Amino acid sequence: MQIQSPLICLNYSEGKWVENSSGETFVSRNPATGEVVAKAQKSNAADTDRVVQSAKRAFEDTDWKENPTIRAKALYKLAQKMRENIDRLSYLLTIENGKPLFESRIEVEISVDELEYFAGLARNVFGRSITLSPYTLGVIAREPMGVVSLISPWNWPLLLLERPLSPALAAGNSVVIKPASYTPASTAELVRLVDSIPEIPNGIVNFITGPGNTVGTTLVQHEDVDMVSFTGDNTTGKEVLKLSAGNFKKVTLELGGKAPAIIYPDADMSKAISAALLGAFISAGQNCIACTRLLLHKKIHDSFLDNLRKETERLKVGNGLEDGVQMGPVISESQMNRVLQLIDSGKKEARLVVGGRRLMEGDFSKGYFVAPTIFDAVPPDTEIAQEEIFGPVLSVMPFETEEEAVEIANGTRYGLGASVWTKDIDRAFRMAKRIKSGTVWINTFMNTYPQAEFGGYKQSGTGRIRGLGGLYEFTQLKHINIDSKPTYP
Ligand code: NAD
Repeated sequence: MQIQSPLICLNYSEGKWVENSSGETFVSRNPATGEVVAKAQKSNAADTDRVVQSAKRAFEDTDWKENPTIRAKALYKLAQKMRENIDRLSYLLTIENGKPLFESRIEVEISVDELEYFAGLARNVFGRSITLSPYTLGVIAREPMGVVSLISPWNWPLLLLERPLSPALAAGNSVVIKPASYTPASTAELVRLVDSIPEIPNGIVNFITGPGNTVGTTLVQHEDVDMVSFTGDNTTGKEVLKLSAGNFKKVTLELGGKAPAIIYPDADMSKAISAALLGAFISAGQNCIACTRLLLHKKIHDSFLDNLRKETERLKVGNGLEDGVQMGPVISESQMNRVLQLIDSGKKEARLVVGGRRLMEGDFSKGYFVAPTIFDAVPPDTEIAQEEIFGPVLSVMPFETEEEAVEIANGTRYGLGASVWTKDIDRAFRMAKRIKSGTVWINTFMNTYPQAEFGGYKQSGTGRIRGLGGLYEFTQLKHINIDSKPTYP
């Protein structure tokens, strides 16, 4: 597939594609080649107000919030349109984010799954009723929040938007979408599909591009925004929480992680090695649930690590559009430099097993490629064991006792994902209960489902995405009290 670049991305409000007020633009580039992919609107606070007002009017003036049948139909149609456009969407994801095409296709497929699940739930936004006295009935109505800002990151741009977009729309809200500035085009493509669905009233879905510190902050502070669903970095998440205080809007935060994988000698070794490899290096490690800390029991440490090193050396790194490529570049020069700086710090504190450098040979020099890297004997209190690196860097730590493994696993500020690998079901369940993490996988890793809640313990976030809990995050409860007694009180 070829796409004429640069793609021009406009903002989208009241069902129309619109330019910003200043005429300023910015570009996104392919991190594998440096080529410009898209030119998008560098919007400001006034442009942001325009899209918020569009969302507010649509929420108030249309019957979207009270028409679950239309909402279900619209979400099914959007899923279908995405499926029909999977080649184009995947291609855009790969040239804008750098991930291999097979991974981009998986991202589109999971996003479709998300939409279809919430299309079904759109007709099941139940409240409840309760008899409160012989004359009094309480109706606990579940209503949408209103205008919801969806602020998303660049690492899985479609999926991480679909995760809050699907429940927000299913519950009857209107939304303003703000993508990360590295990936405006793939998100704009999704909005183009929204635009083609007549069941979605104009203004229910709005889209704006621009810097986080103007468009993002305005969306968070705006008095007419009722809720913010933010996915991104912890530091930004803290800022979002502070900025949102003005009108006490509801905020859900999906933040960083530092997932441990704990491998016991009785685990299925070949399955665990495949999971560690994929977990550490999928999306070049730019994944909130990336397996970044591998806790190996001392009895299998050497053999496991040796096999993992061999598999890592065989990984094909390159431009995601090329056949057979398993790992692409990191997103930007600044991200690459941060990863390389953390690798340097690792070299001083642990033993480098493989990788540990920028790849510069041939075409690699055009992009931001970092070799898949493994460190062994990483002390749990070092920078590489504590910080979310967001690059292809795995820290291996040996352990002997369960106590030690749980202490290391829980020893960071994060708590998003973790996995335990053992055939001893008692131990597995005990560990799952002791690990402070929003998801704990047993003998598997990274499986996520639209029907199972996902989110962070500790500093990995607040609120839940996916599942019934994820739908309810985008609703609020109202008690309607009906009294039929002839006298008062
Ligand atoms: P980021 O925080 O830099 O940016 C995320 C979004 O916030 C972007 O759209 C950005 O423009 C916007 N933004 C920036 N400053 C803002 C501000 N002051 N106010 C409002 N919005 C602002 O994150 P990123 O680098 O795009 O994404 C990587 C991070 O996302 C990692 O930490 C990763 O772990 C996290 N993440 C978490 C999950 C999860 O489900 N928990 C999933 C994916 C990524």
